[in-house]
Amino acid sequence: MFKKILIANRGEIALRVQRACREMGIKAVMVYSEADRDAKYVRLADEAVCIGPAASAHSYLSMPAIISAAEVTDAEAIHPGYGFLSENADFAERVEKSGFTFIGPSPDSIRMMGDKVSAKQAMIRAGVPCVPGSEGALPDDPVVIKRTAKAVGYPVIIKAAGGGGGRGMRVVHTEAALLHAVQTTKAEAGAAFGNPEVYMEKFLQNPRHIEIQILADQHRNAVYLGERDCSMQRRHQKVIEEAPAPGIPRRLIEKIGERCAAACKKIGYRGAGTFEFLFENGEFYFIEMNTRVQVEHPVTEWITGIDIVRTQIAVAAGEKLPFTQRQIQLRGHAIECRINAEDAYKFTPSPGRITTWHAPGGPGVRVDSHAYANYFVPPNYDSMIGKIIVHGDTREQALARMRTALAETVIEGIKTNIPLHRELMVDASFVAGGTNIHYLEEWLSQRER
Ligand code: ADP
Repeated sequence: MFKKILIANRGEIALRVQRACREMGIKAVMVYSEADRDAKYVRLADEAVCIGPAASAHSYLSMPAIISAAEVTDAEAIHPGYGFLSENADFAERVEKSGFTFIGPSPDSIRMMGDKVSAKQAMIRAGVPCVPGSEGALPDDPVVIKRTAKAVGYPVIIKAAGGGGGRGMRVVHTEAALLHAVQTTKAEAGAAFGNPEVYMEKFLQNPRHIEIQILADQHRNAVYLGERDCSMQRRHQKVIEEAPAPGIPRRLIEKIGERCAAACKKIGYRGAGTFEFLFENGEFYFIEMNTRVQVEHPVTEWITGIDIVRTQIAVAAGEKLPFTQRQIQLRGHAIECRINAEDAYKFTPSPGRITTWHAPGGPGVRVDSHAYANYFVPPNYDSMIGKIIVHGDTREQALARMRTALAETVIEGIKTNIPLHRELMVDASFVAGGTNIHYLEEWLSQRER
C-alpha cells in the first residue's frame, strides 16, 4: 500500500480523500492555492504545498506545479478528486511518466471516454444500449446529415464530441433548422473544446437521469454498485441525488449494471467510474461515462456499505476488489442535498465569511463539508460548500431525516440553497418520486409566477 498520497484538489472532496488516507494509515499531502491557505483541511494535512495563486488555471489546473509538489514531498500517488484535472488524460499520462501512480483509470481509458463519439462506439461494441443516432461523427455532406436526422426522427440533438458540463448541445425540431444548427454547434465546439466534431442523437423528451456506479481492479474484476437517480437538475447541474432510483424494477437495474461491469472488463477499465444513462419508457440509453469519483458517491456508499474512495486507492495500489458482485447487497435508501453558497432562488453566487455554522446530526445523517464557522468561501471556485446525506430503512424515513437535518442546519454570513432544499423535500411530486430531468426547472419557473 502507498505510504503517501498527494491530493490534487480542494474543498470537500480534498477532505474526503484525506479522511480515507488517514483511515488507511497513508500520509496525505495537500496542495492549495493562495485562496485556500487558511482552510482547516489544509492545516490538518500531514504536509501542504502552495501551488499558486487563487486562479485555478495557475494552481489546481497547473500540471507542472502539482507534479513538482509530488516530487518535493516524495508522494507515491496522486488522487485527482473530481473536476479540475481528474478527467484530463494528458495529466494522468504526465503523472505516470513522472513515476507516480495516478489514482484512476489508464490515460487511454480517460481519453476514450473523454471523446463522446469514441465512448459511444466503445459502448455499442460492449453491448451497452445507447441513444439512437448517427454512427460516429457527422460528415460534412448535407444530404447525409438530413438523411440521418430523418432516420433517427425529430427532434434530434446535435452534440459536440468534446463537450462537457452541459455545453455544446443544440436541439433541432425541423429539417429547416438542421444544417444551420450543425454548422453553429461545430463552430462553437471547435472554439470551446478544440474539436469541431459533432454527432447526432434522438432527443428524448422526458427522461430521468439514472447512473450506474462501477468499481474495477487491475485483475479484470469489475462490479456495479447499483444506481443513482440524479434527475433533479438545474442547467444540467445536479442538485439532489438518491439511491436506489424510485420505481425502477430491480431486474432492469441488474441487467444494465451487468452490462456496465462487463463493458469495464472488456475495455480493461480500472478504478471507480460512472455510466450515465437517460431512462425513458423502461429503457436505458447511455450518454456518457465519468472516469472519476463523483460528487454524489456517498449515497451509493451508504446503501452498499462500500467505501468508494478507499477502494479507488486500494485498486490503484494493485489490490484485488475485496468483494464480488454477489456480496454487494443494497440496504435502505439514501438522499443527498448539495449545499451551495448561492441565493436559493436567484442562484447568484454568495461567497464570503461564514459567521455561524451549525451542522445537523443524529441517526442516518452524514455531512461532507470542509466549511466551518469563520471559514471564508473564496469567490474563485465552484459554489458547492458541502453535502448533507441521509440514510433510512425506507425512502420515507430518509425524506423525514433530510427534513429534520435541513431544519437543524444553520449557516449564516453567506446565502445558501438550504431554503430551496427545504421546499423540495415537501414537494408532492418529489416526495412521490420518479420526477424527470425537466422537473426542477419547471418547478422553479412556476414558483417565479
Ligand atoms: P455533459 O458532458 O455536457 O454533461 P451529457 O451528454 O452528459 O453532456 O448531457 C448532459 C445533459 O443533456 C443530460 O443530462 C440531459 O439532460 C441532456 N441530454 C443529453 N443528450 C440528450 C438526449 N439525447 N436527449 C435528451 N436530453 C439529452
